[in-house]
Amino acid sequence: ALDLTLTSRDKSKEHPIPMCGVPYHASKQYIGKLLLLGKKVALCEQVEDARLTKKIVRRAVTQVITPGVVFDEDQLPAKVGHYLICVAPSSSVSSQVFGVAYLDVSTGEFAVTEVSLPSLVEEIQRIGPAELLFVSENKSHSDEDWVKQVLSRCKVPMGRSLCYSEDEEKSVIASSLMALGNVSPNVSLSLHQLSRCMLQAAAGCVRYAQATSLGGALPMRELRRYTASQDLVIDESTRRHLELFQTILDRKTHGAVLPILDQTKTAPGGRLLRKWLSAPSQNIDVIKSRHDAVEYFVSRSKMRNDLQALLGQVFDLERLTGRLTLEMATPRDLVRLGKGLELLPQIKEVVSPLRKESSLDPLGSLTLPALLSLGMDLCTDVAKEITEALAEDAPLHTREGGIFRQGYHEELDGLLELASGGKKHILAMEEREKARTGISSLKIQYNRVFGYYIEVTRTHLGKVPSDYVRKQTLAQAERYITEELSEYEARVLGADEQRLQLEQTLFDSFRKRLVRHAGRILDVATKIASMDALCSLAEVAHRNGYVRPEMNAGLRIEIEEGRHPVVETLLPTGQFVPNDMVLDPSSQQICLITGPNMAGKSTMMRQVALICILAQMGSFVPAKKARLGMIDRVFTRVGAADNLAAGESTFMVEMRETAQILQSASTRSLVILDEIGRGTSTYDGISIAWAVTEYLHDTLLCKALFATHYHELCALSSSHRRVFNMSVAVKQFEGDIIFLHRLIQGAASRSYGIEVAKLAGLPAWVLMRAKQVLKELESEQGDALIPHHGHLGVFPQMSLFAAQSNDGTGFSQQKEPTQSLPNQAEKDVISQLRTLDPNDVSPKQAMLLLLALSEQLKVVT
Ligand code: ATP
Repeated sequence: ALDLTLTSRDKSKEHPIPMCGVPYHASKQYIGKLLLLGKKVALCEQVEDARLTKKIVRRAVTQVITPGVVFDEDQLPAKVGHYLICVAPSSSVSSQVFGVAYLDVSTGEFAVTEVSLPSLVEEIQRIGPAELLFVSENKSHSDEDWVKQVLSRCKVPMGRSLCYSEDEEKSVIASSLMALGNVSPNVSLSLHQLSRCMLQAAAGCVRYAQATSLGGALPMRELRRYTASQDLVIDESTRRHLELFQTILDRKTHGAVLPILDQTKTAPGGRLLRKWLSAPSQNIDVIKSRHDAVEYFVSRSKMRNDLQALLGQVFDLERLTGRLTLEMATPRDLVRLGKGLELLPQIKEVVSPLRKESSLDPLGSLTLPALLSLGMDLCTDVAKEITEALAEDAPLHTREGGIFRQGYHEELDGLLELASGGKKHILAMEEREKARTGISSLKIQYNRVFGYYIEVTRTHLGKVPSDYVRKQTLAQAERYITEELSEYEARVLGADEQRLQLEQTLFDSFRKRLVRHAGRILDVATKIASMDALCSLAEVAHRNGYVRPEMNAGLRIEIEEGRHPVVETLLPTGQFVPNDMVLDPSSQQICLITGPNMAGKSTMMRQVALICILAQMGSFVPAKKARLGMIDRVFTRVGAADNLAAGESTFMVEMRETAQILQSASTRSLVILDEIGRGTSTYDGISIAWAVTEYLHDTLLCKALFATHYHELCALSSSHRRVFNMSVAVKQFEGDIIFLHRLIQGAASRSYGIEVAKLAGLPAWVLMRAKQVLKELESEQGDALIPHHGHLGVFPQMSLFAAQSNDGTGFSQQKEPTQSLPNQAEKDVISQLRTLDPNDVSPKQAMLLLLALSEQLKVVT
């Protein structure tokens, strides 16, 4: 796995012992590699002082590191949460509900929820696990269908956790939470409200993390119970297609949305912002309060700059506290913790004008002052305790010594003085010897070979007392040693060893004492993170000219001069062409966008989705104006990619994504379709795209943007009231096309595929031949295949209900809309359905009614 050279011990013997190794100082790098490969690493160390034993030194496993339970900052990207997820099925198989808990041991973030089977993978992917655990009574749990489903979609290492009784689960969570001392006394009450599968999932995380940290307290905060449906759901493929966190093509962060928004100065702020982007809110109060805060900072540049400058000096308080709790914090970690805490009063001061300006608000914790307040407890006592004890340049490792300030511990000061050669002591001894012998030039000195000695020049040799023992003769002087000096030397040399040991002991107990403050520090760290994230959004809004969106509980989306947050930054200033968009389920529900390749259709659609997402995460948006109804989900079906690892072809991926949309979209959802049905024959493709659009229109009523090169689809707007056509304008100039990137009313007149191919550099012969073939096809097939000459009115209408088309193409040649008005029998059926309240009908009655209605319709047709 690590590409190490295998060597062996006792090579010449009959049974050499195979071994390989890495230098201990490079171990972190190798541990990181193993974790990336999904391995677990057990660290064994000598656990007793080698000098104190004559036998083999005792060794033990001191730590286990697994992909999901990592404490070392070198193995953790600063601005990404690192989650261990545990999933537990409910005991009733029929209900198919799952407890999902996640724990970030590096920060103590701990949360639990309950989801249904269809949302399980989505929720796991949204959290983004580093390692997954399953709770199972059954030993062969990996045979279970749901586990297989999860594993095929989430490619992370997996472990198993055992089932315990509810009481045992509660006590393991409670005791672990309480160990930190920051948990409200009603923890058992809140645990009481969790379902069995939630308890099992949460306890699964705790047990696993405890086992790996070998008994130390875990840096856990209160267990937060959340409901995934309160967030705007962005599934994995949508996250990828919108390039929220990394680009699709090369999986880089540059070019993705998050780096544009992330101007945070602290790692916890960065992690929080990432979270907001992965799960924007659906709670209008939460959203508006974040907008309030962003607006506040946007209009106060100086405050924003001052705040960011201070935040830039605060280290990662969450992870430092995490390591403190686990008793893994180094002296330097604690100095950084202290320095961060020391800055809190200044930070509070910078945002303090806020308190004077704001008034009380019924929203409580969502008020601006509450959102930007650091609270009453700034942990000043903790900062003082650390700063007074630890040296400013405290070392990275305890074994290096030099941890404490002078004056912290008397005995330590004495040993330090002695170890550093006890200058004062030597000077005093020198003075005494000069007086005793009358040799004014006598010197006490030190060198590495002889240690301490008294040097007397040749002229004074006669005065040397008898207790001086000669050690070395030089040309001009003699060097001596005395009993007193030898004793002193032994003490000095031992002192270094002693002070290192004392420092280690003192540091261990100092760190243990600080752990009791962990809960308070984590509380204030959370507030700093939120302040940092909001300030970052304000900075971005200011730099990029974003505006505050008007949020409402309605369904309509109105964007005036919207821009794509990433594409606009990649183009020279002023070159991005803004576009308007209005979507409304009651009038303009589905926008069909046509236009040549490269015209900007995908950009336009993505920007609408991103503007909604940004607004609901609390950010301002790249537009001149935006009035936005809340959305509950964004779905995207974009591009084509194989998922060969999961055994799915391009077309299969496309259809699975489409199926997912049609199964899950609600009236509140926003659906982005960038072409459907391209992976199969043209007729298959158009038919599927057509039917999907009708289903969106008639059944789902969700807002949708649908970019397509199937111009045939544009005809839908004449038969389906809420479907409308838009196209991206282009200009033709001397045989080339110029993209204007401007969205205009109406469908595009043609595709310009060959023109775009020319721009891409296809050989001239191929282009010429393509034009010929196109011409032939157009004249041979006429309207049937490429019916997009002229304007909308001449597009053939297609009906899935129409009888077999006479040319075998699947298209009806009639020019009249085939979705004719309902006849009398159909009207009767409709009116019966209208008067029916499904809640009043038993399953049996419903079945009978369905049969009756279907019979009525059959008679007519
Ligand atoms: P295809 O049909 O091939 O997928 P498309 O119509 O979806 O093409 P996009 O991928 O959205 O085109 O855009 C192509 C390029 O055009 C973008 O990479 C960007 O550089 C530029 N572009 C898109 N929209 C705009 C705009 N509004 N203003 C300026 N440039 C734009």
